[in-house]
Amino acid sequence: MRALVKGKNSVAVKELPHPVLRGESDVLICVQLAGLCRTDVFVSEGKIACKDDVVLGHEFSGIVEEAGANASGFKPGDRVTVMPVIPCGTCAFCTSQNPDKCQNTSMLGIDHDGAFAEYVSVPASAVYKLPNGVSFRQGAYSEPVAASLSVIKAGIRPDQKGLIYGNNRFGNLIKRILAAYDIKNVAIYDPAAQEKPAENAFDFAIETLATDETMEALFAAVKPGGKVVLKSRKHEPVGINFNTAVRKEITLVAVNYGDFKEAIDLMADGRLQVDDLLGETYALEDFAKVFENAKTHESAKVFFKPGQDDVRDC
Ligand SMILES: [Zn+2]
Ligand SMILES: [Zn+2]
Repeated sequence: MRALVKGKNSVAVKELPHPVLRGESDVLICVQLAGLCRTDVFVSEGKIACKDDVVLGHEFSGIVEEAGANASGFKPGDRVTVMPVIPCGTCAFCTSQNPDKCQNTSMLGIDHDGAFAEYVSVPASAVYKLPNGVSFRQGAYSEPVAASLSVIKAGIRPDQKGLIYGNNRFGNLIKRILAAYDIKNVAIYDPAAQEKPAENAFDFAIETLATDETMEALFAAVKPGGKVVLKSRKHEPVGINFNTAVRKEITLVAVNYGDFKEAIDLMADGRLQVDDLLGETYALEDFAKVFENAKTHESAKVFFKPGQDDVRDC
């Protein structure tokens, strides 16, 4: 099969052996569409450490090719997507039914071979069926939706006034998700704007690109007693002004993922419209151009179609 592989000093499309199920609890998936994410770009640049010769990619949809004997509930032909962050299964959190609290997770496209390939083998516990109304394109966008859905866990309410810092795809997606939960009094702030956001004006403010300046602006924007929601995955530490935080008694809430199935259901039942956030589809061979573009453009999500056949419903 063809796959986009990050080697020690290179990224290249390679011909790999057709993968087999990694275990009886795994599902082998024929990838239909795989979205490009900042994380993939960072891994390709070596900014995020990964295993040697890893197949990149973690946001995808596909069709079950083969299901292991213990991968109950799945059969060849099922349309699926995958939660790419995989709990270890053995720690105290995992063994007490709290795998979402696992701190030993591994990730597709970093620690395991990912989805920029014609096939990928993943644990059945990470696989979710796509309802009929959800296209492969939408299905491949489930992970960003689930990541954005985490803001619902921040304890914010429909009667509150909010600010999303960052006029980007992520900010727009979060605004739509909040609206789906009836939290509609929410403004998006564009950092390119001349004026700073209004001060002491918001019950909560959601960060989508953390820098010292962003945090300063968010701390200024929330009301005393307000809440700042940390959402981006900045790898380097960011400075915050303790004096402002303490004086205003600001609550900081960090959120990671919302419920994956709920993310899919939001798209399935039409409460969340995402199609206009989803962009072009490319062949794996176009990766250099597509990755380069992703570094400078925050516009629509772009996808790779690793297989040779047409995507069946996109
Ligand atoms: Zn991602
Ligand atoms: Zn664990």
